[in-house]
Amino acid sequence: MSLNTCNPLDERHQSSLEDNSTSYSSDENEQSWISWFCALKGNEFFCEVDEEYIQDDFNLSGLSSVIPYYDYALDMILDIESPNGSKLTEQQHELVESAAELLYGLIHARYILSSRGMISMLEKFKQSHFGRCPRIACNNQSCLPVGTSDIFRTATLKIFCPSCQDLYFPRNKFQGTIDGAYFGTTFPHLFLLTYQHLQPKRIKYNYVPRIFGFKV
Ligand SMILES: [Zn+2]
Repeated sequence: MSLNTCNPLDERHQSSLEDNSTSYSSDENEQSWISWFCALKGNEFFCEVDEEYIQDDFNLSGLSSVIPYYDYALDMILDIESPNGSKLTEQQHELVESAAELLYGLIHARYILSSRGMISMLEKFKQSHFGRCPRIACNNQSCLPVGTSDIFRTATLKIFCPSCQDLYFPRNKFQGTIDGAYFGTTFPHLFLLTYQHLQPKRIKYNYVPRIFGFKV
């Protein structure tokens, strides 16, 4: 499996460095990999997965067979120094970095369906971190992230509007390159079932095009 294709991680990492914001190289001793990753440009939709959740093998079942360099990637996410890590070539190290992003994304998709993950996403939703519906009738309704497939590298992330129940592209170009499988197809719907009071009433509204006041 090639991990060299279309990985926006480097570009976003570079962007962060240019902004003098977070940097893996200078802050690696103080900042966890998870905090660093979630602070990258475009990764604003991700919540920080509890390390305890990641350390529970039950939560990771099935992932070792789909992620290349799985053990290295897991160690990277948990900031564990691999005894064999220094033996990796530069190219292998890059592959491990890509694998860590993929692994974190797939763990994240599971975590946000758990009660703790959902609480983290609730905080972000309340602050409209996931953007707002562009549709006039939805009156700036806050959206939720969603994937149109649970299989990675199938489709990019979209946002779901609870009011009109439609999907939109995220506005930020970096967010628009995130893999939709890192959020999954279930999340917004389970979220709104869990927090039913956040489900807005659907507004029936159809815009009617008119020319000089007459319907077209
Ligand atoms: Zn809407």
